[in-house]
Amino acid sequence: MKNNHKKVDFLVIGSGIAGLTYALKVAKEGTVLIVSKAKADETSTKYAQGGIAGVWNSPDSFNKHINDTLIAGAGLCNEEIVKMVVSEGTERIKELINWGTSFDKEKDGSYALGREGGHSENRIFHKKDATGKEIERALLKKAKNHKNIELIEEHFVIDLITQHHLGEKVFRKREDIKCFGAYILNSKSNEIFTVLSKVTMIASGGAGNAYRTTTNPIVATGDGVAMAYRAKAMVENMEFIQFHPTSLYNPGEKPSFLITEALRGFGAILRNHKGEAFMEKYDERKDLAPRDIVARAIDNEMKRRGNSYLFLDCTHLNSNELIQEFPGIYAKCLSIGIDIRKEMIPIVPAAHYMCGGIKVNKDGCSSINNLFASGECSSTGLHGANRLASNSLLEAVVFSHKASIKSIELVKNIEWENNVPSWDDEGLVYNEQLILITQTQRELQNIMNSYVSIVRSNLRLERAMNRLNLIYNETEDLYKKSKLNKELCELRNTINVAYLIVKMAQVRKESIGLHYSIDYREKKK
Ligand SMILES: Cc1cc2nc3c(=O)[nH]c(=O)nc-3n(C[C@H](O)[C@H](O)[C@H](O)COP(=O)(O)OP(=O)(O)OC[C@H]3O[C@@H](n4cnc5c(N)ncnc54)[C@H](O)[C@@H]3O)c2cc1C
Repeated sequence: MKNNHKKVDFLVIGSGIAGLTYALKVAKEGTVLIVSKAKADETSTKYAQGGIAGVWNSPDSFNKHINDTLIAGAGLCNEEIVKMVVSEGTERIKELINWGTSFDKEKDGSYALGREGGHSENRIFHKKDATGKEIERALLKKAKNHKNIELIEEHFVIDLITQHHLGEKVFRKREDIKCFGAYILNSKSNEIFTVLSKVTMIASGGAGNAYRTTTNPIVATGDGVAMAYRAKAMVENMEFIQFHPTSLYNPGEKPSFLITEALRGFGAILRNHKGEAFMEKYDERKDLAPRDIVARAIDNEMKRRGNSYLFLDCTHLNSNELIQEFPGIYAKCLSIGIDIRKEMIPIVPAAHYMCGGIKVNKDGCSSINNLFASGECSSTGLHGANRLASNSLLEAVVFSHKASIKSIELVKNIEWENNVPSWDDEGLVYNEQLILITQTQRELQNIMNSYVSIVRSNLRLERAMNRLNLIYNETEDLYKKSKLNKELCELRNTINVAYLIVKMAQVRKESIGLHYSIDYREKKK
């Protein structure tokens, strides 16, 4: 079997904006394998509506964008990283444009820059309300045409390969751990094979599916963070889960359909069931306050009045412009019987973005040698305790660029590790009870929604941890006894990530940014 190991220079886990931009850059120096666990375009990137933030011209400036990012991050951003991302971001956006991404323009040919919550200027490059779809289209087309890039869909990366898989029992110092590639499951045939890589990039996106209500597509199960954590990489800031204040309230729909912040930037107003606008009570920036403030305000209004949802009102806006700017939202709402020109949109907050993740330095290097991370699975220091809207696509392009430079520098001095054993699942059988997996997944999502969402407390976190321990043990047991399938691996990873969220939330003894606990309310900045 060893002879069957596939060898590549660069292994890229994920085909969203982070994986594709990195792959396109390193491909000039060697062979690249991109692995996607679903169809290649089934990514959070594809669902991004609002756009990508970038400083283009005055009256905007790098300083203003830096300042907005720092304010949103509630004092926990790494200022050096914020400056780097903002000041290098404009070049990366130009690159996306040169690679075929088309952003909306004004009649005079200048870019039509939008504004979202927390931004002091108009700086969001967008394509109507389907920006991510346009970016994903352009990048995928370019990657598929590249002679050095192979892209395999419906393949699931199970685990990273490190010295641990070579049979080493002694615990190494963190800085000595090396990544040699990954074990990959063909989701159709259920065969597992080994890929040896000189450099590996994790660009596996977020973990919204740890929660019952999420805007994230079903691929977002935190696999990259879980596999990096198992390989003993440093993971941080997992307590900072951003809830998008406004997803469409449509019970049973998965993922929850996002109503972009840009709609509030356009003039839409949040209202309670009495039709009252309430944001003024919570923040002087009203409906355009940062997301955590808006989400908590909605949560509070719903709890006070016992409502399951509130409203976003567009009925006072110019109908033609509304439909022209937000055709996707208009069509989606109409499909469930709501004409947004005449009726208010029912909304509810939903888990949306993971600010923490695999800790990386300014070059995208994780704490494991030859292992990089970029995009939503990484923790770069940009977001601090809260992400500023539309900064995540920007973070991904800047860090994938940085990582590509470092990877190209490193790859020349790395050899494949030839002593890696094949995956051994002899004697194991397929678990016939898929229902156990679905049921546990539901339990997990309920635990996270009930005890670890927008408002937390020490008691709620303790309850969550007790319940997680039970399903963790049951799932590990199943994992050890079963031949693997994608569903079981995803469940195991999501439980791992949920554990990290709860653990890190328990350690943070303050209310800050996205981590809000009623036990530390008085310490809030
Ligand atoms: C509805 C919605 C709207 C958003 N709007 C905006 C916005 O307007 N602006 C903004 O900046 N951000 C926005 N975001 C956030 C942003 O879209 C994401 O953070 C970003 O696209 C993440 O990109 P990524 O490349 O890191 O991961 P993704 O685009 O999610 O790609 C992840 C990839 O990893 C693959 N993968 C995962 N695990 C495995 C595995 N085990 N094996 C193999 N492959 C694997 C997946 O198949 C997928 O290809 C939005 C997110 C959502 C969900």
